[in-house]
Amino acid sequence: MSCWKKIEYVIKPVGSYKIIRNCPKCGCKSTYINTNNFRVNANGNQLDVWIIYQCEKCKHTYNLTIYERIKSSDLNKEEYQRFLSNDQGLATEYGKKKELFAKNKCEIDLEQISYQLALINDQPMNSEGKFIIRNPCEIKVRTDKILSEILHIARSSIKTLIEREHLSTLPKYISRETEVRYYSEELFQNIAIRSKE
Ligand SMILES: [Zn+2]
Repeated sequence: MSCWKKIEYVIKPVGSYKIIRNCPKCGCKSTYINTNNFRVNANGNQLDVWIIYQCEKCKHTYNLTIYERIKSSDLNKEEYQRFLSNDQGLATEYGKKKELFAKNKCEIDLEQISYQLALINDQPMNSEGKFIIRNPCEIKVRTDKILSEILHIARSSIKTLIEREHLSTLPKYISRETEVRYYSEELFQNIAIRSKE
């Protein structure tokens, strides 16, 4: 059996994004977190829906627009009920919607995100071994950190593997898609075991 594989992972955010913005109460840049609460305002047959964020330090609130002057008949009834009951699942769903932050012109804190690394593909290759790490949400995370998680070894050991040419050189941070080659069968043993976990 070939020792070489193409092993693909995806980095997915867990929980809501945090926002960086000027807090008028703190008088400086601050981190705002999702309160998982919605605010719904009905005006005639028009609705506004926001999700409420709050400054981590002073609790000053900031409302992110989800819907603006939408006809109540255009809103899904089930979703409307979930807004009214501050459904936690729905709040986290909106907290992870990148488009929502773009629409509200909010700066997402891409460094302070908890993420999950999931194995999505593991296929044999003829003559080369590589990891492909997908990062569709563009979370700012170091490549050596991700590799140390994949291989369950310390970051300092990653450096040694590169020096011994068991791994290709790494970009400092993971881009939307980062490819890392491995050149060692010994390393493959390690990956094979870890992938099964
Ligand atoms: Zn504040």
